[in-house]
Amino acid sequence: MNSLDTFLPQYEQEPDFSTQILRQCIPLMVKHQMAPHPINYAIWYDYVSNNNPALNQAIDELLDNNTPFDEKVSIDLYARYICNASLEKFSQINSNLASLVNGTLDQVQHSSDQFSETKNSLLSNSKKLENTTEILDAQFLLSEIVHQVKQLSTETHNLNAQLEQAQKDIAELKYELVNTRKIASTDGLTGLLNRRAFDMEINNLLSEQSANPHSLLILDLDHFKKVNDTFGHLVGDQVIRFTANLIKEKKAPHHLAARYGGEELAIIMPETPINKATDIAETIRTSLEKSRLKQKNSNQNIGQITVSIGATGVQPGDSAETVIARADKALYQAKECGRNRVISL
Ligand code: GH3
Ligand code: MG
Ligand code: MG
Repeated sequence: MNSLDTFLPQYEQEPDFSTQILRQCIPLMVKHQMAPHPINYAIWYDYVSNNNPALNQAIDELLDNNTPFDEKVSIDLYARYICNASLEKFSQINSNLASLVNGTLDQVQHSSDQFSETKNSLLSNSKKLENTTEILDAQFLLSEIVHQVKQLSTETHNLNAQLEQAQKDIAELKYELVNTRKIASTDGLTGLLNRRAFDMEINNLLSEQSANPHSLLILDLDHFKKVNDTFGHLVGDQVIRFTANLIKEKKAPHHLAARYGGEELAIIMPETPINKATDIAETIRTSLEKSRLKQKNSNQNIGQITVSIGATGVQPGDSAETVIARADKALYQAKECGRNRVISL
C-alpha cells in the first residue's frame, strides 16, 4: 500500500538521533520490567523522542500513579496512541454519523406517516362538515377538527425539534472529523504539517494545472548535532520549535510549512515565483541568524543558530520527486558553500 494512504506510524528522525533514543529506551524498559519487544520499544521510542504529546501525557500519568507497565497496558498504549488512533477515531465518527443519519431518516418517516394519517382524517372530517345539516354533528366534527389541527401543530413542532437536534449533532461530528484529520496530518513537536501531509500536499499541487509558478524551500539547521551534543536533545527540540515558529511568522498565509525530517523543514509555496520564494527564505535566514536563543530553564545562551536553505521553482514536467531533488541539491550546495545561506536552482 502506498504510504500516503496509511495511518501507520512514521519515524522521520535521522539514524544518529534514533540511536541516541535507543540508548535511552533500553534503561527505561529494564526499569519498568518490560520485555524488549517491538511494541514496548515503539512506546518508549515515541516517549523519549517527545514526538507524541498525548502518549507522553498518558505515560506520565501512569508513572505518577505507579501503574505497572504490564502487557495489557503496553498494548493499550500502542493501540491508542501509536498505531491506529486516527483510524479508530475515523471509523467511530463514521459509524456515529451513519446511525445519526439513519435515526433521523426513521424519525422523518415516522413523522411523515403521522402527518398523512392526521391530514387524511382532517380532510374527511372537513368533507363531512360540508355535507352535514345537523348542528350536533357539526359541533362534534368541529371539535374533532380543532383537535386534529392541534395534533398537526404538535407533530410539526416535534419534527422541527428533532431536525434541529440532528443538525447540531451533525455539526459536532463534522468538527470532530476535521479535528481528527488535522491531528493526523500535524507534526507533534512543531505544529507544522508532518511528512505524510507534506507528501500529499506537494503531490496535489503538482497534479493541478496552474498558470502561475510554484516554489519549494527545504531548510536544514546548521551543525545541529553540536547543539544537541552541547545542550541536550530537549534544547535541540526547543530550537526546532523556535525555527518552525519563525517560519510560520514569515511565510505567506497560503504557504504550507512542514517538518520534512528531524531538523529539516520545508515550505511549499503555491503561486509564488522563485524570486519571491528566495526573498522569504532570506528573511527567515537573517532573522534566525540575528536571534539570540536562550535555554528556557536556565536562561543560558544557546549561541548563534543558522540555517541553510535550498530553493527551487517548479518547472514544466516536474514531479514531486524531481522538485524535491532539485531543492535538496540546492540545499547541499548551500552547505558546501559554507552554510547559513540560500541557494536557488
Ligand atoms: P549540517 O550543518 O551539515 O546540517 O550539520 P548537522 O549537524 O545539522 O547534520 P545533520 O543535518 O546531518 O544532523 C542532524 C542532527 O539532528 C542529527 C540528529 O541527532 C538531530 N535530530 C534529528 N531529529 C531531531 C529531533 O527531533 N530533535 C533533536 N533534538 N535533534 C534531532
Ligand atoms: Mg539534516
Ligand atoms: Mg543539519
